[in-house]
Amino acid sequence: MAQLYFRYSTMNAGKTLELIKVAYNYEERGKHVLTLTPSVDNRYGGGKVVSKAGISRPAVMIDDETNLIELYLKVDAVTKVDCVLIDEGQFLKKHHVLQLTEIVDSFDTPVMVYGLKNDFRNELFEGSYYLLVYADKIEEIKTICWCGRKATMVARVVDGKFIRTGNQIEIGGNDKYVSLCRKHYNDGRIGDEGTRPIYNVTNDEVAQMAEDVQVDDSIE
Ligand SMILES: [Zn+2]
Repeated sequence: MAQLYFRYSTMNAGKTLELIKVAYNYEERGKHVLTLTPSVDNRYGGGKVVSKAGISRPAVMIDDETNLIELYLKVDAVTKVDCVLIDEGQFLKKHHVLQLTEIVDSFDTPVMVYGLKNDFRNELFEGSYYLLVYADKIEEIKTICWCGRKATMVARVVDGKFIRTGNQIEIGGNDKYVSLCRKHYNDGRIGDEGTRPIYNVTNDEVAQMAEDVQVDDSIE
């Protein structure tokens, strides 16, 4: 039986890199992966998912109105879809998550969604809320605060200042997002690490990934 997975974390935990690794593993076995990303994130010009380690792969952009079942059936009619991978799952709408449960339950195709759980105000994103409700498997991709504790929160930092209010979705601009433990989110100390991203992979692993990953252009 296929399952719906929600793999969540704070920022800079290597979620997209994980997605690309999973896609690679499927494709290495001759399987076909459908990769999707919500269009709210246009940082990279759209049409692909890009890890902060610099590795990317093509992805189909979806918007608030996209019917994921129709999209899945359209692609599946051309090439059988063995797995659906979704990046930035926090930006999914409720109806998207319900459609994903249908893809899992009616077509027996696994769906893995990667995304943030809570925003910088410590509220759940809509997509994350319904993924937590409906997913069969919920897995945390761990990352650490600058102090070494597990990071569970995301701080929004604009011009060196810690921001706790504002719109949920602010992509691009001068803001940075820093993963912090609860203690340092609450006391506002972003540490020296606040100025640079933290990866949970080593440079050697990234180099190996870059060698291994093949880009599949067939998903357009
Ligand atoms: Zn800390």
